Amino acid sequence: MSTILPVPHNDPSAAVSFSDHIICSWHSGLGIPCGAYTSVSDLSRHLSMHGVNGPAKSVISCAWGDCGRAPMKRESIVRHVEEVHLQVKYLCDQCSASFSRKSTRNGHVFKSHSYAS
Ligand SMILES: [Zn+2]
Ligand SMILES: [Zn+2]
Ligand SMILES: [Zn+2]
Repeated sequence: MSTILPVPHNDPSAAVSFSDHIICSWHSGLGIPCGAYTSVSDLSRHLSMHGVNGPAKSVISCAWGDCGRAPMKRESIVRHVEEVHLQVKYLCDQCSASFSRKSTRNGHVFKSHSYAS
């Protein structure tokens, strides 16, 4: 039995089901949304310009649109924006299942389409 997992030949982040281009709706403090064009893959880098940076455990309020959620950990913000505000879906490239989290999708691929069996 091998513990070596297959490495996907393509970048998992490429399997996003909707247009990669998004418009940032982060309110930068002046009461107006950012409005910059960015992409899902650049979201975390882009949000760091809005102060979403520093230690993973630091607590930050989401300022995307009219979110109003309780402040959350910095490491959760990008995933929160993807799930709640952008409704990013991660697709299984082996079947047609879709998931809101990359980790859930990867878990599904591993469980349902394991190459080890
Ligand atoms: Zn922005
Ligand atoms: Zn939010
Ligand atoms: Zn699948």
